[in-house]
Amino acid sequence: MPTDQPTLRVAIIGAGPAGFYAAEHLQKQPMAVDIDLFDRLPTPFGLVRGGVAPDHQKIKSVTRIYDRIAAQPRFRFFGNVEFGRDLALDDLRAHYHAIIFASGAPTDRPLGIPGEDLPGSHTATAFVGWYNGHPDFRDLEFDLTQEHVVVVGLGNVAIDVTRVLARTIEELAATDIAPHALEALRHSQVKTVTVLGRRGPVQAAFTNPEVKELGEMPGADFIVDPAELELDAASQTMLDEGDDRTPKKNLDTLRAVAGRLPAGKPRRIVMRFCVSPVALEGDGHLERVRMVRNRLDPDGRGGVRAVATDQEETIPAGLVFRSVGYRGVPLPGLPFDDRACVIPNDKGRVTGPDGAALPGTYVSGWIKRGPSGVIGTNKPCAVETVESVLEDIREKRLGISPGLSPEALPEHLARCGVRVVSYGDWQRLDAMECERGKALGRPRLKFTTVAEMIAALDAP
Ligand code: NAP
Repeated sequence: MPTDQPTLRVAIIGAGPAGFYAAEHLQKQPMAVDIDLFDRLPTPFGLVRGGVAPDHQKIKSVTRIYDRIAAQPRFRFFGNVEFGRDLALDDLRAHYHAIIFASGAPTDRPLGIPGEDLPGSHTATAFVGWYNGHPDFRDLEFDLTQEHVVVVGLGNVAIDVTRVLARTIEELAATDIAPHALEALRHSQVKTVTVLGRRGPVQAAFTNPEVKELGEMPGADFIVDPAELELDAASQTMLDEGDDRTPKKNLDTLRAVAGRLPAGKPRRIVMRFCVSPVALEGDGHLERVRMVRNRLDPDGRGGVRAVATDQEETIPAGLVFRSVGYRGVPLPGLPFDDRACVIPNDKGRVTGPDGAALPGTYVSGWIKRGPSGVIGTNKPCAVETVESVLEDIREKRLGISPGLSPEALPEHLARCGVRVVSYGDWQRLDAMECERGKALGRPRLKFTTVAEMIAALDAP
């Protein structure tokens, strides 16, 4: 590291798993590293707070690891500070040797079919943000008076959305689901949730515990047509020759479900395979989904792709959730790959149009590799990025050293009138949320607007 600086100073933008794991790996180094972790929300943890389904509380206990990272000396949290609004790239470059962007993939991929914008058609990402009390989504409204809902996609997010729609109110009331969502779901009239997969069961993106859970819902029957589980030759080969055991387990789970008679529970989850929506239709509001049956053709890379046949089918739907993947967005001043929707990088080093690395500028997590993998996948991803930082220090590639003191940045933010939320502030919010929840027999009652979070912190 530069000899005129006693300590390496690193800024991490985004306090989700990818940001925390980058901080953790920096903390393991023998040299002194000052880490400032920024998030545009007053609350840390990214998708662990705003994405993980409320009925998966156990997964959220990973935040205990993040608390330990935050408790280390030389770590500061700057919540409620938005890159691009409160801080520009040049501000960060003036204060830090290295900047790691771990801003995730905050938006969704479109389906690109007619009717996608009809009232009643939503992205799963918006619904997830809404039921998890993310301030950006808490004011959305979803028409839960509809009896027929369609979820497009076979990933774990599609399964989360399906489960939340099919849970009983008693089950939801025992979670940390946002208060407005609990209230709206209390009056839900949803009867059938149909999940549409464009390919077959062997290609489904969900993991096995998630699909198994759909077959164990107290308030919903899980229905799969055995005919849709019959495999084409290419899928059978994928199943027989693939190293991943998940497709086999999924198929076993689905075959067991398909062999069962529905128990007549109040709701039904119907999972369909090899169908693609081609249009969302209705008179001023979504009423039905027109879809086409697909056949699966080898894609030349050992997999299969969905190819539309001429067999069409229309099913009723007053509400559609498109769950076909998250999408990264560009960050001010940084290059962006519009096709892959990631910041172009080489092992975490941000690269410019000529392929050369931008000194001191790195990425970690979904904005680096795209929106895939579970929480733990971000750990090796962050380690790789930090190893690139360390190599660049050794090779003296970090460029100009910042000349300002560690206090200069908080002073700059204070001058700009930013109400920074520290980790101590967050811990107070956390305690308040848990306390409010306790009174209702719930793990926590979330604050869902930035204004109420700041008001709670600043209350005399
Ligand atoms: P995902 O796993 O990438 O799944 C996306 C799904 O959308 C796939 O089934 C894909 O089908 C389908 N799709 C894509 N384009 C489509 C189109 N035009 N028409 C129809 N279907 C289309 O994404 P995700 O569900 O958003 O999850 C993101 C990541 O978070 C995943 O790694 C997931 O495992 C993780 N996650 C994990 C949990 C958990 O562990 N419980 C919970 C939530 C999310 P094809 O395969 O045919 O492309």
